[in-house]
Amino acid sequence: MKNPAETLMEELEEERKALRINIVLTVVTLIGLLAGVYFQVTEGPLLFEGLSFLVAFLAGGIPAAIGAFQNLLQKKLDIDLLMVLAAIAAALVGEARDGAILLFLFSLAGTLEEYAMGNTKRAVVALMKLRPDEANLEGVGGQMTRVAVEALELGNIVVVKPGERIPVDGSILSGTSAVDQSSMTGESVPVDKDAGDSVFAGTVNGHGVLRVTVEKTASHSTLAQMITLVTEAQAKRSPSERFSDWFGERYTILVLVGSTLALLGFILFGIPYAEAFYKAATLLVVASPCAIVISVPAAILSALAASARRGMLFKGGAALETFAQINIVAFDKTGTLTEGKMRVTKVVPLGVSEHQLMQLAASLEANSEHPIAKSILAHAATFNIAPAMVEKAEAVPGKGLYATIDGHKYFAGNRKMLLESGVAIDTKTEDALALLEAEGKTAVIIGNTSVLGVIGVSDTVRESAKSTIAALRKSGIKRIVMLTGDHTMVAQAVGKEIGIEPSDIYAELMPADKVAIVEKLRTEGRVSFVGDGVNDAAALATSHVGVAMGTAGSDVALEAADVALLSDDLGALLRARTLSLQANRIIKQNLVFAIGILILMVIVTIFFYLPLPLGVVGHEGGTLLVVANGLRLLWQKF
Ligand code: ADP
Ligand code: MG
Repeated sequence: MKNPAETLMEELEEERKALRINIVLTVVTLIGLLAGVYFQVTEGPLLFEGLSFLVAFLAGGIPAAIGAFQNLLQKKLDIDLLMVLAAIAAALVGEARDGAILLFLFSLAGTLEEYAMGNTKRAVVALMKLRPDEANLEGVGGQMTRVAVEALELGNIVVVKPGERIPVDGSILSGTSAVDQSSMTGESVPVDKDAGDSVFAGTVNGHGVLRVTVEKTASHSTLAQMITLVTEAQAKRSPSERFSDWFGERYTILVLVGSTLALLGFILFGIPYAEAFYKAATLLVVASPCAIVISVPAAILSALAASARRGMLFKGGAALETFAQINIVAFDKTGTLTEGKMRVTKVVPLGVSEHQLMQLAASLEANSEHPIAKSILAHAATFNIAPAMVEKAEAVPGKGLYATIDGHKYFAGNRKMLLESGVAIDTKTEDALALLEAEGKTAVIIGNTSVLGVIGVSDTVRESAKSTIAALRKSGIKRIVMLTGDHTMVAQAVGKEIGIEPSDIYAELMPADKVAIVEKLRTEGRVSFVGDGVNDAAALATSHVGVAMGTAGSDVALEAADVALLSDDLGALLRARTLSLQANRIIKQNLVFAIGILILMVIVTIFFYLPLPLGVVGHEGGTLLVVANGLRLLWQKF
């Protein structure tokens, strides 16, 4: 199977060709029109005048006629047919010039529309251009060879020189640098990176030399996934797009039938044939739903292109439209409202030495991906404690984990984990726990048949959390809740700091509880769940619009979410919200405007008099305005 990005490249190339042909045809139509008008005003030879208008008719009308004919063969009516009929009708009643004006403006609008609709595709191709073709592969002896990025394998080491684009997704083995990730996340400030940090294909290395271990092959990089997602998003049609397709088709028939009936009506009312024909032709033009049909996709495709450039991936127009209607937001706490970079702040050994406790904790947590585990390992490393081998390890989601060392089963986790292990809680443990909890710290209990110690870890609330929550409320979110597996006291402390009502904080939840709460919230409004994708894929999928943050590098989150924010910054959530509200506003404006102008012109044509050229300008002008209004989203700052 061909990959979607390649298909897209080919499509884009074909569209480029088609666009070039269209531009030429539009220009030829204009030349024919101008020449015809010139011979008309200078009262030149009638033959020249006729030939000029014929050129305009052929260049402007034939592509539309072919399209309309092909559709007719499939028993489908389209708007092109209406335009061609109207132009022919105008010519028949001796108003070839008006017909030529119609065809020129129709052709121009078509060309511009085509350009506008290619925007998402161009955004994707821009992404593809970010991919470097070659990388510096470091051999066993330390020598470097240039190889194709596709040829890199997992575990290879590549050297990224200052100013070079990083060729792969991987982690830094050695070196420090500031990496410009703006192409991917939209963050303008370069991010400082050193050993152990992740880097992504397509981002730009700053001044340092980096040695990077390849962690994903070229076709699985975050960039490759972005390209696939954006490609799929633009192909999916949102509910209102489907509506305008549906509407367009039926409405075309209505216009055709209506204009014929109107023609008969005009004649019945004693209007001379030529004038009746002219009026009916004008009616065909002004009643055509071009602007209505284009108004929604123009806005949606522009919004998708604009957001992809800023590291916000909406997985289709539906997500974009629904996100604007959200009125309840449920946040995951750890890694979303907090940085998820935990630190050990207290170690309370109970019956063993501090060194023994840390050694044990590190060995257990080496088997977990949880942010808590990372903090414990980092803390142990400062005492030069390396984790020991364990025989068997088993994670207990929402609680902690078990592992067997030298035949003894140990556990690490929260109060629920203690309960699960069946170890009785003594006063010393209770005191230690109570003290940590009162300080708003997460307590990790380590033990086997008895408790061997308690480790307090704490997380930093994101700087932007408080302002983001306030701004979300301002943007029309009526309820903001926090869902967490952490202890109630910790959750309440965080909630208080960032402005979430105590009654909207749900703590000590198991992953399944989060899903149940999201389900309950769904009965109260439109819910968005915002998480970092670490063990909350189910909640992401359950909410109306699942938003995953900091998804660069996380496949699960990219998959499960409806909106993927590549950067790890709550500001992106606000920008995504602003963009979707704006896109929806523009869709509404476009529809109201397009329908309004259509009704107005139909009334004027039937009951008063509307010159065909004016009708054409009104109709095509309306279409262009609607497209331009959609394109606004591309240039807007968020
Ligand atoms: P959240 O992401 O909402 O904080 P999690 O389900 O990831 O929730 O974790 C819930 C709780 O389970 C944590 O607050 C912690 O107390 C405990 N826990 C989970 N994994 C571990 C671990 N590896 N070590 C210690 N405790 C853990
Ligand atoms: Mg989490």
